[in-house]
Amino acid sequence: TTSQELLLSRIRDVQDYPQPGVVFKDITPLLADPKAFTVLTDALTELCVRHGATKVVGLEARGFILGAPVAVRAGLGFIPVRKAGKLPGATLSQAYELEYGTAEIEIHAEDLNEGDRVMVIDDVLATGGTAEAAVELIRRGGAEVAGIAVLMELAFLAGRARLEPALRGAPLESL
Ligand code: IMP
Repeated sequence: TTSQELLLSRIRDVQDYPQPGVVFKDITPLLADPKAFTVLTDALTELCVRHGATKVVGLEARGFILGAPVAVRAGLGFIPVRKAGKLPGATLSQAYELEYGTAEIEIHAEDLNEGDRVMVIDDVLATGGTAEAAVELIRRGGAEVAGIAVLMELAFLAGRARLEPALRGAPLESL
Protein backbone atom coordinates (compact mmCIF):
# COMPACT_ATOMS: atom_id res chain seq x y z
CA THR A 1 0.00 0.00 0.00
CA THR A 2 1.08 3.57 -0.55
CA SER A 3 1.89 5.96 2.30
CA GLN A 4 -1.38 7.77 1.73
CA GLU A 5 -3.38 4.57 1.98
CA LEU A 6 -1.57 3.64 5.18
CA LEU A 7 -2.30 7.05 6.73
CA LEU A 8 -5.95 7.00 5.62
CA SER A 9 -6.43 3.51 7.05
CA ARG A 10 -5.32 4.76 10.48
CA ILE A 11 -7.77 7.67 10.69
CA ARG A 12 -11.03 6.81 12.44
CA ASP A 13 -14.35 8.47 11.67
CA VAL A 14 -16.31 9.08 14.87
CA GLN A 15 -19.98 9.83 14.18
CA ASP A 16 -21.77 12.59 16.11
CA TYR A 17 -18.67 13.86 17.94
CA PRO A 18 -18.33 16.38 19.53
CA GLN A 19 -21.97 17.04 18.61
CA PRO A 20 -24.78 15.43 16.60
CA GLY A 21 -24.27 15.61 12.82
CA VAL A 22 -20.47 16.02 13.00
CA VAL A 23 -18.09 13.29 11.84
CA PHE A 24 -14.87 13.69 13.83
CA LYS A 25 -11.58 12.58 12.25
CA ASP A 26 -9.70 10.81 15.05
CA ILE A 27 -5.94 10.38 14.55
CA THR A 28 -5.24 8.37 17.71
CA PRO A 29 -5.07 5.04 15.78
CA LEU A 30 -2.40 6.61 13.56
CA LEU A 31 -0.39 7.82 16.58
CA ALA A 32 -0.59 4.34 18.10
CA ASP A 33 0.90 2.75 14.95
CA PRO A 34 4.67 3.42 14.87
CA LYS A 35 4.91 2.77 11.11
CA ALA A 36 2.11 5.21 10.27
CA PHE A 37 3.35 7.83 12.77
CA THR A 38 6.83 7.60 11.25
CA VAL A 39 5.49 7.91 7.69
CA LEU A 40 3.52 11.00 8.73
CA THR A 41 6.46 12.56 10.61
CA ASP A 42 8.77 11.95 7.65
CA ALA A 43 6.33 13.49 5.17
CA LEU A 44 5.81 16.62 7.28
CA THR A 45 9.56 16.92 7.84
CA GLU A 46 10.14 16.77 4.09
CA LEU A 47 7.66 19.64 3.61
CA CYS A 48 9.56 21.76 6.16
CA VAL A 49 12.79 21.18 4.26
CA ARG A 50 11.22 21.73 0.83
CA HIS A 51 9.71 25.06 1.86
CA GLY A 52 12.78 26.34 3.68
CA ALA A 53 11.28 26.51 7.18
CA THR A 54 13.45 27.76 10.04
CA LYS A 55 10.85 27.18 12.82
CA VAL A 56 7.89 24.88 13.39
CA VAL A 57 4.65 26.13 14.95
CA GLY A 58 2.27 23.48 16.31
CA LEU A 59 -1.38 24.31 16.97
CA GLU A 60 -2.84 23.08 20.27
CA ALA A 61 -3.28 20.25 20.87
CA ARG A 62 -2.73 17.69 18.11
CA GLY A 63 -0.41 20.07 16.29
CA PHE A 64 1.92 19.65 19.29
CA ILE A 65 1.98 15.86 18.88
CA LEU A 66 2.79 16.11 15.17
CA GLY A 67 4.90 19.27 15.18
CA ALA A 68 7.34 18.32 17.96
CA PRO A 69 8.86 15.21 16.31
CA VAL A 70 8.95 17.05 12.98
CA ALA A 71 10.88 19.94 14.54
CA VAL A 72 13.43 17.54 16.05
CA ARG A 73 13.83 15.64 12.79
CA ALA A 74 14.20 18.80 10.75
CA GLY A 75 16.62 20.31 13.28
CA LEU A 76 14.31 23.28 13.91
CA GLY A 77 12.92 24.96 17.00
CA PHE A 78 9.32 24.24 18.03
CA ILE A 79 6.86 26.99 19.01
CA PRO A 80 3.48 26.20 20.57
CA VAL A 81 0.41 28.22 19.62
CA ARG A 82 -1.97 27.82 22.53
CA LYS A 83 -5.52 28.67 23.45
CA ALA A 84 -5.75 31.96 25.34
CA GLY A 85 -4.54 32.03 28.93
CA LYS A 86 -2.14 29.06 28.84
CA LEU A 87 1.20 30.69 28.03
CA PRO A 88 2.98 32.28 31.01
CA GLY A 89 5.10 34.90 29.21
CA ALA A 90 4.39 37.98 27.12
CA THR A 91 2.07 36.91 24.31
CA LEU A 92 0.60 38.07 21.05
CA SER A 93 -3.12 37.16 20.86
CA GLN A 94 -5.40 36.70 17.89
CA ALA A 95 -9.18 36.29 18.07
CA TYR A 96 -11.09 34.49 15.33
CA GLU A 97 -14.66 33.51 14.58
CA LEU A 98 -16.12 30.09 15.15
CA GLU A 99 -19.47 28.83 13.89
CA TYR A 100 -20.90 29.95 17.24
CA GLY A 101 -18.90 32.65 19.01
CA THR A 102 -15.20 33.41 18.95
CA ALA A 103 -11.94 31.83 20.04
CA GLU A 104 -8.50 33.23 20.79
CA ILE A 105 -5.01 31.81 20.36
CA GLU A 106 -1.65 33.04 21.59
CA ILE A 107 2.07 32.73 20.98
CA HIS A 108 5.07 33.81 23.03
CA ALA A 109 6.26 36.94 21.22
CA GLU A 110 9.92 36.26 22.04
CA ASP A 111 9.85 32.93 20.18
CA LEU A 112 9.59 34.67 16.80
CA ASN A 113 12.40 36.61 15.17
CA GLU A 114 12.64 38.66 12.03
CA GLY A 115 13.88 36.47 9.23
CA ASP A 116 12.22 33.33 10.59
CA ARG A 117 10.25 31.25 8.10
CA VAL A 118 7.61 29.36 10.00
CA MET A 119 5.85 26.13 9.02
CA VAL A 120 2.46 25.75 10.73
CA ILE A 121 1.55 22.15 11.53
CA ASP A 122 -1.78 20.66 12.58
CA ASP A 123 -3.77 17.46 12.12
CA VAL A 124 -6.96 18.74 10.48
CA LEU A 125 -7.80 21.85 8.49
CA ALA A 126 -11.56 22.35 8.84
CA THR A 127 -12.93 25.89 8.28
CA GLY A 128 -9.40 27.31 8.25
CA GLY A 129 -10.13 29.78 11.05
CA THR A 130 -7.46 28.49 13.41
CA ALA A 131 -4.77 28.36 10.74
CA GLU A 132 -5.71 31.83 9.51
CA ALA A 133 -5.33 33.24 13.04
CA ALA A 134 -1.96 31.46 13.41
CA VAL A 135 -0.73 33.07 10.18
CA GLU A 136 -1.71 36.48 11.57
CA LEU A 137 0.18 35.80 14.81
CA ILE A 138 3.33 34.79 12.96
CA ARG A 139 3.30 37.90 10.77
CA ARG A 140 2.58 40.15 13.74
CA GLY A 141 5.60 38.57 15.43
CA GLY A 142 7.74 39.79 12.54
CA ALA A 143 8.29 36.39 10.93
CA GLU A 144 7.38 34.96 7.53
CA VAL A 145 5.04 32.05 6.89
CA ALA A 146 6.81 29.21 5.07
CA GLY A 147 3.52 27.35 4.74
CA ILE A 148 0.81 25.36 6.45
CA ALA A 149 1.09 21.57 6.55
CA VAL A 150 -1.74 19.35 7.74
CA LEU A 151 -2.47 15.66 7.65
CA MET A 152 -5.99 16.21 6.41
CA GLU A 153 -8.05 18.93 4.80
CA LEU A 154 -11.83 18.67 5.08
CA ALA A 155 -12.40 20.02 1.58
CA PHE A 156 -16.19 20.34 1.93
CA LEU A 157 -15.65 23.10 4.53
CA ALA A 158 -13.69 25.21 2.00
CA GLY A 159 -10.92 26.16 4.44
CA ARG A 160 -8.46 26.47 1.57
CA ALA A 161 -10.53 29.23 -0.08
CA ARG A 162 -10.89 31.06 3.24
CA LEU A 163 -7.14 30.90 3.85
CA GLU A 164 -6.07 31.92 0.38
CA PRO A 165 -5.85 35.71 0.98
CA ALA A 166 -4.01 35.25 4.29
CA LEU A 167 -1.48 32.87 2.73
CA ARG A 168 -0.15 35.48 0.27
CA GLY A 169 1.24 32.76 -1.92
CA ALA A 170 2.59 30.52 0.86
CA PRO A 171 1.69 26.86 0.28
CA LEU A 172 -1.09 24.96 2.04
CA GLU A 173 -0.02 21.32 1.98
CA SER A 174 -2.35 18.52 3.00
CA LEU A 175 -1.15 14.95 2.94
P1 IMP B 1 -10.79 25.08 11.89
O1 IMP B 1 -10.31 26.27 12.64
O2 IMP B 1 -12.27 25.09 11.66
O3 IMP B 1 -10.03 24.84 10.61
O4 IMP B 1 -10.57 23.81 12.82
C1 IMP B 1 -9.31 23.27 12.91
C2 IMP B 1 -8.96 22.94 14.33
O5 IMP B 1 -9.96 22.13 14.91
C3 IMP B 1 -7.69 22.13 14.34
O6 IMP B 1 -6.87 22.52 15.42
C4 IMP B 1 -8.14 20.69 14.46
O7 IMP B 1 -7.30 19.94 15.29
C5 IMP B 1 -9.54 20.79 15.03
N1 IMP B 1 -10.49 19.93 14.29
C6 IMP B 1 -11.55 20.29 13.56
N2 IMP B 1 -12.20 19.24 13.07
C7 IMP B 1 -11.51 18.17 13.47
C8 IMP B 1 -11.66 16.75 13.27
O8 IMP B 1 -12.57 16.23 12.60
N3 IMP B 1 -10.71 15.96 13.85
C9 IMP B 1 -9.69 16.47 14.58
N4 IMP B 1 -9.53 17.76 14.78
C10 IMP B 1 -10.43 18.61 14.25
